Amino acid sequence: MAYTSLYRRYRPDTFEGVIGQDHIVRTLKNQLASGNIGHAYIFTGTRGTGKTSVAKIFARAVNCMHPVDGSPCGECDCCKELARPNNFDIIEMDAASNNRVEDIRELIDKIGFAPTVGKYKVYIVDEVHMLSASAFNALLKTLEEPPAHAIFILATTEIHKIPATILSRCLRFDFRLVPTKLIAERIRFIFDDIQVKYQPEAVTLIASAGGGSVRDALSLADMCVSYCDGNVTYDGVLEVLGASDPERLCALAGCIAEGNVDGALKEIASLCDLGKNVSILANDLANLFRNVLYIKHLGEEAKEMLSIPDGVYDGLKQLADKHSVQRCLGIMKIFSKLEGELRYSSQRRILFEAAAVQACYGDEASRTDELAARVARLEKAMAALRKSGFERTPAIMDAKQAWIHTASRLNAKGYSLLASCLRDVKMEMTETEFVIYIPDVASKKMLDVKSNVDAVMEAVADTPEMGGRTVVFKEETHVASDVALPFVRDMFGKYVDIK
Ligand SMILES: [Zn+2]
Repeated sequence: MAYTSLYRRYRPDTFEGVIGQDHIVRTLKNQLASGNIGHAYIFTGTRGTGKTSVAKIFARAVNCMHPVDGSPCGECDCCKELARPNNFDIIEMDAASNNRVEDIRELIDKIGFAPTVGKYKVYIVDEVHMLSASAFNALLKTLEEPPAHAIFILATTEIHKIPATILSRCLRFDFRLVPTKLIAERIRFIFDDIQVKYQPEAVTLIASAGGGSVRDALSLADMCVSYCDGNVTYDGVLEVLGASDPERLCALAGCIAEGNVDGALKEIASLCDLGKNVSILANDLANLFRNVLYIKHLGEEAKEMLSIPDGVYDGLKQLADKHSVQRCLGIMKIFSKLEGELRYSSQRRILFEAAAVQACYGDEASRTDELAARVARLEKAMAALRKSGFERTPAIMDAKQAWIHTASRLNAKGYSLLASCLRDVKMEMTETEFVIYIPDVASKKMLDVKSNVDAVMEAVADTPEMGGRTVVFKEETHVASDVALPFVRDMFGKYVDIK
C-alpha cells in the first residue's frame, strides 16, 4: 500500500477540522447559511495555513444537500460525487505549472455548462500569482461576467503580485499563521490516532519548527515518526531538524552575550566542523534568546509554556539571570534578521561569523542600555542639584512661559516666520532684562531688519508676563551655566564637543 503523508491523510474535510482560521470559517459559514455566496474569492496567506483545504471544503459545502452546521455532510449524493478526484464540478488548477493563457482558456472552456450534480461549479486556482499577464486578462474577462453557477477561489501566497483589476472583483480572505499551540494539539491528536509514542516537548519542537504552517509541521512530524521508529523524542526531532545540540548552542550563546569574541568564534568553528548549517544555527540562536527573554519575564512558567526540557532550561536560566533584556533582545534581533539575509547569500559562514562578532560587541540595544544608565545618573545629579538649592530651574520655566506668550503674540501679528525662528531660543530673565540668545545666522539676519526688532519689542511690551522688562539680544555663546556645565561634560563629554 502506498504511503499517504500525514498532511494528506489528516487534511480536514469539514470546517471544524480547520485550525487557526476561525475568522475565515465563521464568515464563510455565514455566507453559506444566508445563501449570500460570492462568485470570486481570493485566499491569501503563508503556505500550509489551510487555503486549499478551506477552498475544497467550501466547494463541497455550497453543493451539499444536507450541510451539517455549514460543513459538507459527506453522505449525500453531491458530497459523494464531489469526493471523487476527477469529478466535473470542482475544477482545480495549479497556476505554478499552468500559467499560460491557453491553460486558463482550457480551464474555463466548459464554464457555460451547468454543473453535473450540485448547484455550483467551483474553480480553484492555486498559486494564482504565477499566471502570465495574458492569462490574468483571460481570467479577468470571466470574472467580469461569470455564469450564475460558477465560483472562483483563487489562492496565493503573494497577494501583491495579483493585478488590482482581479483583486477588486474578489472577496479577500487573509489566512493567518497558525499558533504553535494549535499545531501541537493537532500533532498530539494525530500521534495518538496512529498510536505513536512521543515526548510532549518533542511535539512542541515540531510544531514550532513549522513556523505557523500546518503542512510544514506535519511533514516534519512525518519524518520524525519514521526516523524515531514509533517513539518521537526531543533528541530525535533535533536530529531530524539538523538543529544544534542545546548544550553547545547554549555555550555559544553564553560567549556571545558575554562579548567573548574568541570563545564565540571557536564554538562556531567547532559547530560548523560538525556540519551544522549556519542558517539553522542563526534560527536556533534567535529562538534561544527568545526563550531567555520568556524566562526573564515568566521564570518557571516559561519552561512549561515553551516545553523546554530540564537540562536546557537550567542553561537558559543562567543566561537570563546574567544578561539584561536589552542585551538579549539585541542579540535576538541580529540573528533573526540574519536568517533572512543568509537565504540569498553564498557567503553564509562569513555572514554568520560577522553577525556573531557584531552581537558580541553589542548593537544599538546595548548602547541604549548604556544611555539609559547615563540618563539615570543625570536624573540623580539633577535631583541632587535641586536639593542643594539650584533655584534656576523655576526661573527658566517662568522665562520660557513668558516667551511662549510673546511668540504667539508675534505670530498673531503676522510675524509667523520670525515667531517660529525664535520660538525655541534660549533666554534668561533678570530683574530688569529679558535676554534672548540669537540661535543661528538665519535668526540673526531677521533681527537685522529693524521692523522685525520693533515687532519683538512690541510683543514683549504687550505680554504681561514679561513684567515690562527690557529686551536684550545677545549672540548665543555662554549659555551653559557654570553650574550645569561640569555635569553635562561628565555625562556626555565623551560623545559631544562642548564649547
Ligand atoms: Zn452532503
